Amino acid sequence: MRKSLDIIVPVYNEEECIEQTISRLCGVRESLYNELDVNFIFVDDGSRDKSLAILEEYASKYPFIKALSFSRNFGHQFAVSAGLDYSKGDYVAIIDADLQDPPELIKDMYEKTKEGYQVVYGKRLKRKKETAFKKFTAFAFYRVFDSLCQIKVPTDTGDFRLITREVADALKNMPEKHRFIRAMVPWVGFKSTPLYYNRDERFAGVTKYPLSKMLKLASDGILSFSTKPIKFIHILAGFLMLISVLLLVTGLFWYNAFLLCLLAGLIFFVGALQLFAIGIVGEYVGRIFEEVKNRPIYIVQKKLNI
Ligand code: UDP
Ligand code: MG
Repeated sequence: MRKSLDIIVPVYNEEECIEQTISRLCGVRESLYNELDVNFIFVDDGSRDKSLAILEEYASKYPFIKALSFSRNFGHQFAVSAGLDYSKGDYVAIIDADLQDPPELIKDMYEKTKEGYQVVYGKRLKRKKETAFKKFTAFAFYRVFDSLCQIKVPTDTGDFRLITREVADALKNMPEKHRFIRAMVPWVGFKSTPLYYNRDERFAGVTKYPLSKMLKLASDGILSFSTKPIKFIHILAGFLMLISVLLLVTGLFWYNAFLLCLLAGLIFFVGALQLFAIGIVGEYVGRIFEEVKNRPIYIVQKKLNI
């Protein structure tokens, strides 16, 4: 039986990019025609522009263009998760809608699976025309993540990748509400290899990842994969205890105004650290709260060709 590939594309206000993306993906579909049935699964993440209307038009003409539409903007990671949930293909590729990741590489990724790899992930060499801020925050995040989390996430890697059915099924079995897919994939394991590439600039429009969404993704990543921040509080507490003992002993022998100021400053400092520590605990408690509520992670309001 012919094998199949589903290409998942999360879409949020991408009306300027979608048609070009569909056209490039159709090229990929043709290049793989002899070996695979290729379907596209677009996941409209509550776009407020014409993205959904464009997808509806294409889906009505071409059965291999499938789409889901969310009832509101749930976020990129949930759009990708929905695509995975609805995918049935023997292979599943994930790619952004803005053509920063060249779709033609999906064929190269598929070729690598023939060597026995179950995950082929895109690893960025150069990132064209991205701001120095974006490049620096991404660089710093991957290094901080690496030092805090046991799971090894390859540096400079996004969600652009191709996985086999067994990997997609393993991911579908992870019902967590805070999702950081690029770490969930190495968590499930399987034989993986990078595919190096240069990241292009956005075909059109502006990034749909403002600083607030970047920070949420970064904290979801670290807090979902590491308990080190909470353990760090113990070390901090021990360190502060030591300082306070030293201060008390010093105070017994040397008492003047300077020391008073110093002490008052330290008390404020310790108070701030305590609040910080409670904040970290709060982050984890909040996450437990989200999990026990057990709400769906996205709501689909429309399905096209699915
Ligand atoms: N995206 C999404 N929901 C969001 C934000 C982004 O589905 O809330 C999609 C977006 O349409 C694109 C992909 O996620 O296909 C990556 O977003 P973007 O290219 O804006 O991020 P950047 O490359 O700037 O980090
Ligand atoms: Mg982009």
